[in-house]
Amino acid sequence: MTSDHLISGRFAVVGNPIQHSLSPVIHSAFAQQSGRQIDYRAELVGLDTFETWVTTFFQQGGRGLNVTLPFKTRAYALADEVSDRARAAGAANFLAQNAAGQMIADNTDGKGMVADMTDNAGWSLNGARVLVLGAGGAVKGVIPSLLQAAPECIVVANRTSARAEALAAEWIDQSTPVSGGSYDLALSMPWDVIVNGTSTGLSNEMPGLPAGVILADDCYCYDMAYGKGPTPFMSWGADQGATAVRDGLGMLVEQAAESFCLWLGDYPETQPVMSALREHSQAAR
Ligand code: NDP
Repeated sequence: MTSDHLISGRFAVVGNPIQHSLSPVIHSAFAQQSGRQIDYRAELVGLDTFETWVTTFFQQGGRGLNVTLPFKTRAYALADEVSDRARAAGAANFLAQNAAGQMIADNTDGKGMVADMTDNAGWSLNGARVLVLGAGGAVKGVIPSLLQAAPECIVVANRTSARAEALAAEWIDQSTPVSGGSYDLALSMPWDVIVNGTSTGLSNEMPGLPAGVILADDCYCYDMAYGKGPTPFMSWGADQGATAVRDGLGMLVEQAAESFCLWLGDYPETQPVMSALREHSQAAR
């Protein structure tokens, strides 16, 4: 790396596992847009050593971290200051240090997903009946941004219904109704948008939805997971007659762009990076 164009400080994404992370490639591409280079690595951190690892990283001058499975709630708990959207999610995928040396946490997943749906795909969430499958960290992270997009309602359905009920209870005071329960809730109305926020995409499975889920005339299906081809959920949506189906690669790139901007002050172009990743993935098939 040439030092004159190297962005100062170290950056990384931490997780376990982490070897397949695209984040280093994405952030390098963002930096290259303005002729710079970035020292951004994927770091495998032991399940017992996350807090020590992160504290040492910042003590040694590290500048920014993205955090992925299974550490997002621990990143949130570790920070001295948290943003409103991280607080709402109870989870953080972004860490940095402020001028006083305090660790600050944010959550850029929700903004990333909604930006991909609305800005990149051109879907409208305004007035939509939204079904969200799953009630884990990723779903918690996207609810605040979904609410900002003013849907008619959000229904969270999860394999473990108590988890979805607890999540929905956190949003009881919203003008947009948020309810939660078992997969049977998927039968309660026709849907304009269905989001798969379960981790079934990682194992190439379909969430165990009951038969009879109704998609509205213009229904969009979004899987937070991404891979080399359509996920089982995307194939299911297409079979059910969805107007469009989309995977979570755009969410990944958009949450990264928001992180890049928070660290470095400029918002990168996401479209060329997404196109390059899609081309690379097609070529690898
Ligand atoms: P969590 O482990 O926190 O939650 C997993 C969720 O999936 C839970 O609701 C769990 O249900 C459900 N689940 C797991 N296995 C099954 C199954 N066999 N059938 C039905 N439901 C199941 O994971 P995250 O919330 O962090 O991540 C969820 C997904 O979102 C992952 O695929 C991840 O890759 C993706 N993601 C994508 C991002 C992107 O940028 N594109 C960003 C963040 C996440 P239960 O409560 O019953 O266990």
